[in-house]
Amino acid sequence: MNGLMDGKNIVVMGVANNRSIAWGIAKSLHNAGANLIFTNRQERSKKKLEKLLNENDIHDSLLVSCDVADDESIKAAFEEIGEHVGVIHGVVHSVAFADRDDLNGDFINTSRNGYLLAQDISSYSLVAVTREARKLMTEGGGIVTQTYLGAERVVKNYNVMGVAKAALEASVRYLAEDVGPAGIRVNAVSAGPVRTLSAKGVSGFNDKLSVIEEKAPLRRHIDHDQVGDATLFLLSEMARGITGEVLHVDSGFHIVA
Ligand code: NDP
Repeated sequence: MNGLMDGKNIVVMGVANNRSIAWGIAKSLHNAGANLIFTNRQERSKKKLEKLLNENDIHDSLLVSCDVADDESIKAAFEEIGEHVGVIHGVVHSVAFADRDDLNGDFINTSRNGYLLAQDISSYSLVAVTREARKLMTEGGGIVTQTYLGAERVVKNYNVMGVAKAALEASVRYLAEDVGPAGIRVNAVSAGPVRTLSAKGVSGFNDKLSVIEEKAPLRRHIDHDQVGDATLFLLSEMARGITGEVLHVDSGFHIVA
């Protein structure tokens, strides 16, 4: 993949630590020659990211603070990015949040606030981010978000996040239509379960992993690198004819009954 992303400025949102899906994506993009710009919400995540970048000899990346719950914060983050690099060619949206209490038991018990919070951070944020990113994507490019099978099917305990991911996938299609004429593509990767900080919040996560080993056509889990490479593909010119798509990176699990 060397050179595939040479000269491309890509914003990566959502590295909390070395287990984050966004970190796997950052490594794939870096290996392909991209110039990376990161956004973090928590100071703690920023510190972890700085350490990771050092350990992996990735230097000169711009680190910007961004809370996707706040429109002003998103606006300020992309303005700051624009001041430093001028043009961006892609965005990785790898951000989600729901209350832990809403990620187990019966979906019917989801509170109004819990429902709105999951939608706000996990789905609406893509709309707000795309609106600001578009201003800097004057040469076209790609936006890729991360979704999960719980958007399409009932996955035990995924509950409120499944509904938020369904809205996220629909947003991918509507956004793709809006920004397509500007040469910007919007897609999603639907990854199989990966052990991360966020995944820990979903009850019964280990059961999900063992079902993949048992039932998925490839009979193995996926890892960060596989999600990273698929996201790289969607951001690159190789995927120039693809937009509004949800690409499953799940060892084929979604095709089995
Ligand atoms: P992580 O916990 O590593 O990453 C989640 C990220 O979301 C963190 O970096 C966190 O930032 C960020 N975030 C949460 N709230 C906000 C906010 N208000 N503003 C800005 N950033 C915020 O988990 P994953 O890597 O698992 O999650 C990344 C994406 O992948 C999510 O969309 C998730 O749903 C999706 N996904 C995960 C799967 C899995 O099995 N792990 C499977 C399929 C999809 P901070 O640390 O600064 O709070």
